[in-house]
Amino acid sequence: MMRRVLVTGGAGFIGSALVRHLIGEGTGRVVVLDKLTYAASPAALEAASRSPRYRFVRGDIGDRALVSRLLAEEAIDLVIHLAAETHVDRSIAGPAAFVETNIVGTFHLLEAALEHWQALEGEAKARFRFHHVSTDEVHGDLDFGDAPFDEGSGYDPSSPYSASKAASDHLVAAWGRTYGLPVLVTNCSNNYGPFQSPDKLIPRIIANALGGRELPVYGEGRNVRDWLYVEDHAAALALVATRAAPGARYAIGGRAERSNLTVVRGLCDLLDRLSPRADGRSYRRQVTFVADRPGHDLRYAIDPSRIERELGWLRVHDFESGLEACVRWYLANRDWMDRFVGAGYALEAAGDRLRGAA
Ligand code: NAD
Repeated sequence: MMRRVLVTGGAGFIGSALVRHLIGEGTGRVVVLDKLTYAASPAALEAASRSPRYRFVRGDIGDRALVSRLLAEEAIDLVIHLAAETHVDRSIAGPAAFVETNIVGTFHLLEAALEHWQALEGEAKARFRFHHVSTDEVHGDLDFGDAPFDEGSGYDPSSPYSASKAASDHLVAAWGRTYGLPVLVTNCSNNYGPFQSPDKLIPRIIANALGGRELPVYGEGRNVRDWLYVEDHAAALALVATRAAPGARYAIGGRAERSNLTVVRGLCDLLDRLSPRADGRSYRRQVTFVADRPGHDLRYAIDPSRIERELGWLRVHDFESGLEACVRWYLANRDWMDRFVGAGYALEAAGDRLRGAA
């Protein structure tokens, strides 16, 4: 079945991986709607943009007239919603944009999608799905001995980012239950891989290491995340969006729990091998421990058994192979990283405000 897909946030880290996946696997038409905030990377869409089945539209998910027009003129039968403000530290320093895009923006998108879906008929109406892409952070955090999160886990968000994502999950579920909109929700663990904005842990550590700067680790680096290679997430999203029954929810994770310190040291060791420091010493020398983030979640972990069992999804990359592929990509694409770091990369300012607030 050739689908006509609207991907919001398609110029972002995961959105662009999804677009590359959809174009690569020959899924109908792919229309990207993206506001191109600081986090966007149009270069990540260069290959996809050569396909005649691809269209890019710069715009805001909160612009209801624009979204309604796009849904109608492109006869969209699948919305995959990734547009969001996503950086936890930024949400602490300035939460307003998170409320505006993640909550209010999702509301407008839902309203436009509902109106569009209600006007559809027959097979087109039956096929329509609104897939909301969310995070495991909506569940709060786990203690070291706790069972991982799954589809039945409750909501207990800690940061303005995760609270705004939790709110959007609830809106999506309500538009499903109240108005019958055929919605899907996925909650995924931490992603890593090509084209991730260098204000996130893994690319930031690589950029700082190569730039001879400090490698900041929050607290003692004990916080645990469950890491998933972004292409495995993209494959999972495509599977859920096209195969899952309306109302379904899936937890997606990489079965790869690692402490932040383990990740940083692993990156140093890979860089020592693949791009050694001029003085021959280890990048581990650049690690510095910085004051912990307020409300820093201790541990996230996902049990992805349901998506594995019901949809046959399995991650391709384990953490070690994924991390090496990731480091090799950043080494081969230093121009991209340097351009990104140069353009609108205001992390240091955000960090200063954060330290001021802590
Ligand atoms: P990202 O920050 O890399 O990209 C977000 C994209 O959304 C950017 O291209 C940005 O320009 C766009 N955008 C922001 N506000 C917009 C608006 N109002 N209208 C249109 N476009 C807008 O994010 P990401 O890491 O790719 O995450 C994508 C989605 O996946 C988010 O919803 C996030 O909550 C979720 N998620 C992320 C992770 C992760 O580890 N990165 C894990 C689980 C879930």
